[in-house]
Amino acid sequence: MGRLDGKVAIITGAARGMGETTARLFAKEGAQVVIGDVLDKEGQAVADSIGEQAHYLHLDVTSEADWQKAVALASSLGSYNVLVNNAAILYYAAITEATPDDYLKVIRVNQLGPYIGIRESFAAMKAAGGGSIINISSIDGLQSKNGLSAYSSTKWALRGLTKSAALEYGPHNIRVNTVHPGGVFTAMHAAGDKTEPNDDDNAFYVNHPLPRVGLPIEIANMSLYLASDDSSYSTGSEFIVDGGWNAGMRLDLLPTS
Ligand code: NAD
Repeated sequence: MGRLDGKVAIITGAARGMGETTARLFAKEGAQVVIGDVLDKEGQAVADSIGEQAHYLHLDVTSEADWQKAVALASSLGSYNVLVNNAAILYYAAITEATPDDYLKVIRVNQLGPYIGIRESFAAMKAAGGGSIINISSIDGLQSKNGLSAYSSTKWALRGLTKSAALEYGPHNIRVNTVHPGGVFTAMHAAGDKTEPNDDDNAFYVNHPLPRVGLPIEIANMSLYLASDDSSYSTGSEFIVDGGWNAGMRLDLLPTS
């Protein structure tokens, strides 16, 4: 018996990276998964390799029409009750170098996209008797970095959106939470063609509580928990999966065990 038997999930940005890993895990646990992305070839290949439990569709998260098609597809597969807002773009620029258009481009994908998804999913999830919405934020939605104003703004915004949606949707048994990954070994993290991190990939994390980069499955496991009924009393909350990054840095000049 799978932990997601009988559930139908939409996962955005699932043509690769954490979204792909999440789609594979959810299908293994019994869910029907709708894989949405703008990378059509890669997304279709992921769906084909998962098999009959997976369905690819072109879903640009900034498009209301695309969201309506995705929700219709998910609803046609059974009770649509899980949404993972995972798609995002990373953008580095100093505040004084980026333009308002650059900033808005990031806001549209990372912030407006999840908002439209939540909005378009409400009626179907309510009709299904409830559901779980998982918004993939970041360590940068808890702190930030120089050069990351646009991305970080969107990841903080997801926390506010999540809390507001949790308040509005809770009476309909729809839970809404954020997940905050630390550094995770994907294309966004410059993984390139490598499937396993090496010492160079882990070097940045040497003074973190867990001194290594995270793996996509370690984030997918948290999304699995939130998608499943095991998390039935959690909503409006932040779930951190960052190897302890947010706890602080180990300082070499101070005593340690
Ligand atoms: P990734 O770049 O490998 O995957 C992101 C996916 O989103 C891609 O398939 C891309 O095509 C898709 N996408 C981009 N724009 C889209 C759009 N408009 N509509 C639909 N899909 C779109 O990234 P990842 O590392 O797997 O990141 C997944 C999530 O985790 C993101 O929300 C990211 O911000 C977050 N995150 C990543 C890290 C990390 O270190 N990798 C850390 C913290 C948070």
